[in-house]
Amino acid sequence: MNILVLGAGQLARMMSLSSTHLDLHVLAYDVASKQVMNPVTFDVTSYTLAQAIERSDAITAEFEHIPHDVLTLCAQSGKFYPGEQAIKTGGDRALEKALLDKAKVACAPYQLITEKSHFLTAIDSLDLPLVVKTCQAGYDGKGQWRVKSKDDVESIWSEMAQFLASGTDTLPHTIIAEKMIPFDREVSIIGVRDKHGECKIYPLTENQHTNGVLTLSIAGKEKPTIEQQAKDAFNALAQELDYVGVLAIEFFDVQGQLLVNEIAPRVHNSGHWTQQGCHVSQFENHMRAVAGLPLGSTELLRPTAMINVLGQAAIPTQVLAVSDTTSHWYGKSAKPGRKMGHINVSGSDLLQLSERLEQLAKVLPEQDYPGVSQTAHNLKGI
Ligand code: ATP
Ligand code: MG
Repeated sequence: MNILVLGAGQLARMMSLSSTHLDLHVLAYDVASKQVMNPVTFDVTSYTLAQAIERSDAITAEFEHIPHDVLTLCAQSGKFYPGEQAIKTGGDRALEKALLDKAKVACAPYQLITEKSHFLTAIDSLDLPLVVKTCQAGYDGKGQWRVKSKDDVESIWSEMAQFLASGTDTLPHTIIAEKMIPFDREVSIIGVRDKHGECKIYPLTENQHTNGVLTLSIAGKEKPTIEQQAKDAFNALAQELDYVGVLAIEFFDVQGQLLVNEIAPRVHNSGHWTQQGCHVSQFENHMRAVAGLPLGSTELLRPTAMINVLGQAAIPTQVLAVSDTTSHWYGKSAKPGRKMGHINVSGSDLLQLSERLEQLAKVLPEQDYPGVSQTAHNLKGI
């Protein structure tokens, strides 16, 4: 079976690597260069997008910021999953909030902004501090402002006004202001839904961000009550979107109550641990869902952590000497802060995982891999 993925980055690569053994053949469409390529070798094919769509049995996407003409073309083929609406919703925070409201899933109080008076109203009604985000085009914490005092308003507004002015009639730009949530921690849930509406959900993951970018995720330490809230949100949103494939939802945990931060209609960085922590990874399950195959188990085999490799030229090979540790390299050229790969480490229980994280902290410098040593320490107290 041939599968086409929109986007040719590491997520397409891992979808391909995870499904070759199922006899699925993946090609990826690089939206920037408009080339159809093998996402593992990066060998470029001679297919046009139209030809690649034609020869595919199913089409999916590795990210949500896809030109709408490409989306429409894929949707018209009748083979595109999770579908045009889901991808557009994930790529526009205003549509995302509307979905959450419709499905009655709690999120941070917010206000949409298209002119300055809306910004001033948001400051009065939501109260400072605020997190202000572009509705379109943001990722990895980019396209965001923190408004801490009224003295920040003019300088931030001038940048916001530039973003609003750069929209077009067909794709107007909007901004959203959210109340800054004093969360205890961030968590996410990743689940998969098949074409018949059956859902399987991975265990809740705790996520650590550094400067707005995910640095470490850990699964296997959650209480059932919190996990159930996340699963309820997943079921409500997946059903509302008539979703097919893997859907990720990021939350703020505020004293045991989960508020949605955002959704991602795709496989997600906070689900990379499933490659070693579960029988069937998020990548394989996404491919199974879009290909119409039965879904695989999402049960946790063993507590597992994922450490992101950001901006490094290579992963220190000594990490492989730590038991049950695997490195995943994306084959990209290094740039500061760029996601280059990740490291998964598992333990038979939380204590063993903590010991292995401690060993990894010895070969992973804190400034490049923040939080490894602290996480090892925190796990000992559980
Ligand atoms: P990514 O692509 O990494 O998911 P993003 O650019 O889509 O990031 P968000 O997830 O919305 O952006 O925000 C990045 C981080 O900023 C969050 O993980 C959280 O740490 C912080 N943040 C975002 N919104 C809020 C909020 N309303 N209150 C407090 N912190 C927030
Ligand atoms: Mg996010």
